[in-house]
Amino acid sequence: MKSGIIRDVLVESLSESHVTVLERLSDPKYDEDVAGELKMKATVVRTLLNDLHENSLVEYQRTKNKKTGWYTYLWVRREDKIKDYVQGYLKTHLLELNSRLEDETKNVTFQCNCTRVPYNVAIETNFVCPSCKKEYAECDNSEIIDEIVSEVSRLDSLLEQT
Ligand SMILES: [Zn+2]
Repeated sequence: MKSGIIRDVLVESLSESHVTVLERLSDPKYDEDVAGELKMKATVVRTLLNDLHENSLVEYQRTKNKKTGWYTYLWVRREDKIKDYVQGYLKTHLLELNSRLEDETKNVTFQCNCTRVPYNVAIETNFVCPSCKKEYAECDNSEIIDEIVSEVSRLDSLLEQT
């Protein structure tokens, strides 16, 4: 597992702040201690921790302070889940991109001044846009296809390396 790639994908899917918090949890820590170390507000750190928790990347132990009645949370990083999360993120995006790629290569689309429509919509209005009154012209989507193809190969190569 190449940690640089894992980190990059985590930043892309969550944010730099989420990853910074995650990196602090090599040992179990209280949220206020993480906040202190990062010189961030405890409320901000808690929000970030909750996001990480929703994605199963951290877990916590809750204990009640008998004097104050308040709960404290001891957070720990789930090392076993990080690789799954990263691979899941990449796979989901690859599926989306591949289905967009299929649409772009299979369907002819038309363009006016205001929008882009598929053939079956353009033919209904006799190839004139009802909004801007311009004639639809066949859309050259080769650039879009190139972009999707290069994004697919980028994510494929990341997935291979995780
Ligand atoms: Zn239009």
